[in-house]
Amino acid sequence: MRIYRCIFCSHELTGTRTKEHVIPVWLQQHLGITDAMLSPTRYSGKTGEVLSTRSHGINGLVAGRVCSTCNNGWMSQLEIVSMPILISLMATRRPVSDLTGAEKTTLARWAAKTAYVLNFSSNSVKNVPLEHMRYLYRNGTALPNGVTVCAQQHNPTMKFNWLQGAQWQILNTTDVGDEVRNKLSENGYKITLQLQSLLFTVGHLPHPPLKFSFWNGIHLPLWPTHGIYAWYEKDGFPWNDSRMAIHYFHAGLLALYDEDPSHNQVV
Ligand SMILES: [Zn+2]
Repeated sequence: MRIYRCIFCSHELTGTRTKEHVIPVWLQQHLGITDAMLSPTRYSGKTGEVLSTRSHGINGLVAGRVCSTCNNGWMSQLEIVSMPILISLMATRRPVSDLTGAEKTTLARWAAKTAYVLNFSSNSVKNVPLEHMRYLYRNGTALPNGVTVCAQQHNPTMKFNWLQGAQWQILNTTDVGDEVRNKLSENGYKITLQLQSLLFTVGHLPHPPLKFSFWNGIHLPLWPTHGIYAWYEKDGFPWNDSRMAIHYFHAGLLALYDEDPSHNQVV
């Protein structure tokens, strides 16, 4: 018989298995989306094409691989401390730039936790490495190496949306080669959430010569809190259209090929 383990703490799932809602119930109720149907868009990691989508009732979207100790323990704690911050940001009562360092880390961990459960539960390629979920469980104050979480606010025309798929535009090289391309499509990920005015992208570049390149003024990094990464300049962010904004925010997080090891990100 196959033994299933919790994706976070790796304990065997027996009678203690629970149904962790991918979108927490308080957030579904706050956004008024409990009965909504969702058709998340997903992209091919190899070609960047939009693949077929599947509709979910949001309330029925549960992660069957989370144990009750995690669900009622650290995940519930993370939800409680994140809730007031999320509520003020989603309604634009506070700007992202107003967050303290500790709030940024809390929110980055909440976004990663939510993105990982979402990736693991959806019909998309499950390319978040299990070590990243274990890392969130083991380490209460950080995120795994090579991961970034960025945020921004816009004028929403939708309540909720998400995108996932590792399509990366790579700067500074004409061809990264098959090895890097394969690593990117296996273990690289990019997952973007829109919650009212708030946009989050959780990204991972699995290969050190690749570094994040952020859209200046658009991607506000919550994590990492320091380190070297690049910025690029561009106009034309669609501030008043949620459907466009989530696509621009997602696709606009770029990778930069940089072989100088002294530039590797330190977390
Ligand atoms: Zn667990």
